[in-house]
Amino acid sequence: MVLKRNPKEEGRNDGGGSGHETIAVAPSVRVVTPYDTVTSQAAIEAAPDHRTCFKLDWNECTVDPSPRVREAIREWVCSGRGLNWYPRLGSSRLARAVADYTGLDTTQLLVTSGSDAALRLICSTYLDGDDHVVVPVPTYHHFMIFARSRGARLETVCGASAFEPCLEAIEGAMTSQTRLVYLVSPNNPTGVIYPPEWVAQLCRDYPNSLVVLDEAYYEFARMTGIGFVGEVTNLVVTRTFSKAFGLAGLRVGYLAGATPVIEGLGRLYNPKSVNAVAQVGAAAALEDLDYLVSFLAEVEASKDLIRDFFASRDGVELRVTPANFVVLRVEDVASTIDELGQRGVYVRDRSHYPGMEGCLRMSVGTRTQTRRLLRRVDDVFR
Ligand SMILES: *Cc1c(COP(=O)(O)O)cnc(C)c1O
Repeated sequence: MVLKRNPKEEGRNDGGGSGHETIAVAPSVRVVTPYDTVTSQAAIEAAPDHRTCFKLDWNECTVDPSPRVREAIREWVCSGRGLNWYPRLGSSRLARAVADYTGLDTTQLLVTSGSDAALRLICSTYLDGDDHVVVPVPTYHHFMIFARSRGARLETVCGASAFEPCLEAIEGAMTSQTRLVYLVSPNNPTGVIYPPEWVAQLCRDYPNSLVVLDEAYYEFARMTGIGFVGEVTNLVVTRTFSKAFGLAGLRVGYLAGATPVIEGLGRLYNPKSVNAVAQVGAAAALEDLDYLVSFLAEVEASKDLIRDFFASRDGVELRVTPANFVVLRVEDVASTIDELGQRGVYVRDRSHYPGMEGCLRMSVGTRTQTRRLLRRVDDVFR
């Protein structure tokens, strides 16, 4: 039995990687450009002192998840159970834990591989060519890739300020034919919040439109529309374990919606898509909410340290968001990011987003980390 490739055949019949697409992608995908994957990960891993770098560019949690996560995963792997088996279908045990956490019924929930997979599932199930989709911008870009790949017609709307919720502009763009509207609350990267009561009213006013409420940062803001999924039938809320729970590497999220929406999504939902280790880890994180609460308190306290620090720095306009990141508007964004990078501090350039000229986004961590960070960047911001 020869499973290894014959080296003589190397280079022949290569299939991909040559840079030439021999088989054209589907027409709806031709208009899609890949997600901007600028990340500091490689730079940090290559740095000799990588442990002291600050990875603040992807809104990740800045500390390890609850120790119970590691313990539960270790125990599960060492028990010799089921790596050769498919994971629990529908993440049934984790789904029950999410039901407890959200106060919903498991029939109103689907567990997904990160909330990205939830957003993609929503687009695949509910969007088709030329569907009208309303998206207030600037916002999380990945959704737009999923929507465009379905051939949907995206109408982006923008208020006078990127940092105020543009409720009238959204209402102005909606029609009875609008298929879907995508709202992120608190929004990434602006921190804008859409009041849950307003979102529920939008659902009632536009019963033909699916309202997608992305609550990736819910735990930080503690404001949610999830309770309305029992009341209106056209709301879907997505959430994630990647941010407040510190499990970005495991890829777990979930969505909540009225039972008919969940049934619709069930047509394409892959019940074995969340891997077994991720299911075990996320369930363990939900068993240690004290750990979550203490991290949330750290982030809030750090925001005060950041406010104090920037109060006296004239060249910087600071926006503290209800999520785990702040936005800084600086005079020269490229050189600021460069100077931060030289000090091992990695942030995200958001200056090309509408209404965010000169802006960069920076994650917020614990007080100890923040004190160390602010000492490190003291001479960058004068
Ligand atoms: C980070 C982020 C996501 C992605 O979350 P995953 O669960 O890691 O896929 C989704 N939406 C928003 C607004 C985000 O900022």
